[in-house]
Amino acid sequence: MRSISILGATGSVGDSTLKLLRQHRDAWRVEALTAQCSATKLAQLAREFDARIAVVGDESCLPELREALAGTGIEAAGGRAALIEAARRPVDITLAAIVGCAGLAPVMAAIEQGGTIALANKEALVSAGEVMMQAVERHGATLLPVDSEHNAIFQSLAGSDIADVRMITLTASGGPLRLLSAEELQRVTPDQAVAHPNWDMGAKISVDSATMFNKGLELIEAYHLFPVGLDRIRILVHPQSVIHSMVEYRDHSTIAQLGPSDMIVPIASCLAWPRRMEAPCEPLDLAAIGELSFFAPDEERFPATRLARAACEEGGATPAVLNAANEIAVAAFLAGQIPFTRIAALVEDVLERSNRPQALASLEDVLTVDSSARRQAQAILENA
Ligand code: NDP
Ligand code: MG
Repeated sequence: MRSISILGATGSVGDSTLKLLRQHRDAWRVEALTAQCSATKLAQLAREFDARIAVVGDESCLPELREALAGTGIEAAGGRAALIEAARRPVDITLAAIVGCAGLAPVMAAIEQGGTIALANKEALVSAGEVMMQAVERHGATLLPVDSEHNAIFQSLAGSDIADVRMITLTASGGPLRLLSAEELQRVTPDQAVAHPNWDMGAKISVDSATMFNKGLELIEAYHLFPVGLDRIRILVHPQSVIHSMVEYRDHSTIAQLGPSDMIVPIASCLAWPRRMEAPCEPLDLAAIGELSFFAPDEERFPATRLARAACEEGGATPAVLNAANEIAVAAFLAGQIPFTRIAALVEDVLERSNRPQALASLEDVLTVDSSARRQAQAILENA
């Protein structure tokens, strides 16, 4: 039996992970399940999977969790410190699926235990970059990418020497707004933006897919996970989301990973790694899909990938600032406070105005930059 903790168990990636565990109940023991405030759902899951501990990040939601777990013997805890403590419990694998930089401290706590971390929480790696990768190295942890593109790259690199890579191609569906004009993009509503054609995901990443910030964050994520240099990572729009990414080698052989657009597949690949496990989803039916198409990204209508590439080139604190500003912008868009096209504009504003350190040396440094960029983004919004 292997043990697992799921940080962000009540979200979309959490759901897919638990669906997979349901099919393999005898093989897994659940240690910790966490949420922010979905206490009732968290308690249900903790009961179903007989977790040792359930934690809500928001302490005000703890009484509800306690009540829902009364008499079960499952420990209930709440607050940021409790979340980080839970992430520190030794397990065979930690599924990091909290959304946003809020997941960074718990991920770092898991890394410090030297275990295996299946990372979905890309914002954590984008913000902390070298700080996280150095911690992985120092503590002998293993980082497995859950993000479908990075999981595809990881699979396409198996058995090869990274020095032989000529180009990594990150594929992008282009999101639900790919074909809209610049004019039409200004009037996009939150409902339109979250209606992704291929993937069923949480609200934040759905908006990121619509703006292409998701691909921008993924570019930075790939830069840290696969050290080939930024100029060897490119983005290609592939609306069918069948090829999840590819690696071209020096002899011009390209190895790609294909699969259904279901997060169960990359999650299964991480949980079973280096072996394979059954995944409860429909297999890929290429005859039914018929055609695969590819387009260069349009960075005029969707400036996010350009901003992210520049932030990655600049390095230091800049990716953390980009991420924090984007988190604030997405929340403001979802709350109906700003138009869709203002998301990238706000990120660009914050990048232009912020004073940021050249380098980040610790988790504390990253969190300081993250909160100051959030404050700055908020201030720009309030003074607009
Ligand atoms: P969801 O919004 O569906 O779920 C987020 C989870 O994190 C929930 O359990 C939520 O708890 C918890 N959470 C939210 N805010 C906080 C906080 N401040 N502190 C602690 N926990 C918090 O997100 P997704 O599952 O879609 O995405 C999770 C991560 O995985 C993101 O980084 C995303 O980019 C990445 N990812 C997602 C994919 C997908 O298909 N969904 C694909 C590839 C990557 P609560 O329910 O209480 O709010
Ligand atoms: Mg992805």
